[in-house]
Amino acid sequence: MAAKGKTTPKYIFVVGGVMSSVGKGVAAASIGKILQSRGYRVANLKADMYVNVDAGTIRPAEHGEVFVGEDGIEADQDLGNYERFTDQLSTRENYITTGQVYQEVIRKERNLEYHGEDVEVYPDIPKEIIRRIEACQRKNNAEITIVEYGGTVGEYQLFPFLEATRMMKSKHPADVMVVLISYLPTPALLGEQKSKPTQRAVNDLHSVGLNPDFVLCRAERPATQDIKRTISNVCSLPVERIISAPDVYSIYDVPVNFEKEKLSDTLLGALGLKSRTKDLKDWMALARKIKKMDKEVVIGIVGKYFNFKSVKDTYISVIESVNHAAWSVGKKAKILWLDSERYERDPKLLKELEGVGGIVVPGGFGGRGVEGIIAAIRYAREKGIPLFGLCYGMQLATIEFARNAAGLAKANTTEIDSKTPHPVIDFIPEQRANVAEKNYGGTMRLGAYPTTLKPGSVAREAYDTPRISERHRHRYEVNPKYIERLEKKGLVFSGISPDRRLMEIAELPKAAHPFFVGTQFHPEFKSRPLAPHPLFRSFIKASVKRGEQEKKNRKPAVLVVRPNPNAHHALRSG
Ligand code: GLN
Repeated sequence: MAAKGKTTPKYIFVVGGVMSSVGKGVAAASIGKILQSRGYRVANLKADMYVNVDAGTIRPAEHGEVFVGEDGIEADQDLGNYERFTDQLSTRENYITTGQVYQEVIRKERNLEYHGEDVEVYPDIPKEIIRRIEACQRKNNAEITIVEYGGTVGEYQLFPFLEATRMMKSKHPADVMVVLISYLPTPALLGEQKSKPTQRAVNDLHSVGLNPDFVLCRAERPATQDIKRTISNVCSLPVERIISAPDVYSIYDVPVNFEKEKLSDTLLGALGLKSRTKDLKDWMALARKIKKMDKEVVIGIVGKYFNFKSVKDTYISVIESVNHAAWSVGKKAKILWLDSERYERDPKLLKELEGVGGIVVPGGFGGRGVEGIIAAIRYAREKGIPLFGLCYGMQLATIEFARNAAGLAKANTTEIDSKTPHPVIDFIPEQRANVAEKNYGGTMRLGAYPTTLKPGSVAREAYDTPRISERHRHRYEVNPKYIERLEKKGLVFSGISPDRRLMEIAELPKAAHPFFVGTQFHPEFKSRPLAPHPLFRSFIKASVKRGEQEKKNRKPAVLVVRPNPNAHHALRSG
């Protein structure tokens, strides 16, 4: 929407107090959403405290999904929340780490760009942080830039970032707001909300020269008026700047809840801005619809990263894509986490797959659990269970087909077996040197690339357009030497890079299977709650159909599954 009347760029800093994992990312995304709904151009930025230059080298099972931007940035999963909420595409300017900041300061020092001065943690590090925040604002031409800091106040690593905020605020007090996301515990013994930890977090902010301008009170239940008054006193703020942020049914309720608290009005007022429009209707309708949905489609996710901290964080974009697609056909997705290593130990367990509507095999790396995944893919192919493979999932589906349908018994990927007689999945040629030289960081085939779709294919029908663009993150590809052999046996490469070098989609024709599609790219990064991804939608439709047939034909098999972490809960960690 065109800006009416130019304003100076505004900045909203979102910082956590008390503890992590209370949903800072969703809160920052929701602030972006509600301000956008008032007619402002927003940008969301995430600053992470770690020394890693990007998230690409961090184990997703520990830190959550690695989200890939259009330009190939491998970033924190919160950028996924931002994109899903505001539909603004993130690029490398939307993501800062301590590693990037130091790397740039040291580069400048080596280039004599400090003109012989000594380079200091203060003020040169905060200055570089500010430079990056302002670069993000310019790149996005944002009227309001929302900057979320990872971690919580009081942490050592956060100091240079808070100092950057203080410097910006002291220069432009009316243009910079600090939003503290706090947590109000309710000890079971007392049964009442306590504000003391929030007061401590406010003190921590005071000690670095900042006072919050807003406090968002995360809690199981709404913040009481009493507690709001206490916190407003501690922060010398009007009580309407203390916002209740209780647990909600789905994360898509968070902007709706913020608006119940009139947050966009108060925020705009604090920034000296006026609302230009009000446009949250579709979103609110979706949030309402989600709550009413009672019919389920059961989706099994067969993977191998389930034994860690939070499976929901590891697969957040996949889960959300499944949800978006399911909601669009009036269903609630019930996700079952099916650990593939169990199928290696006991192949009889594969029978449990008969109880699902469809199976997703998400991305991954390395050999552990892979034979179990391949066994599950075979089961799905032979029994006509809808199967959707994402990146590694596509590669493993190709291997399964090569082994069991094309007579290449020991087919494999060279990622696992460098001596396989049939390397149906092999290095993208330019990747070999990266691995040999241990040049791992940011060197995969990353970001958005075009794909041409084959007329008449399942993919072409789903997308309803001949050319698409999707995001990638991989080093291996379908080995061109095997394409002809695989196609002769019925596998269709229905998506190919325009230079015809890389196979981007593998599928079985509709006549052979209800839905058997693998994508070398990650469609999950581009699904939106109000615009589900076309392939996820086709997959879900096929899964719903199968679920209905199954119900008619038999009792579902007993499922042996891990605890289902897909129960809706409010907010996720930042
Ligand atoms: N390990 C595979 C590769 O590097 C797949 C990567 C993925 O699933 N993102 O090509």
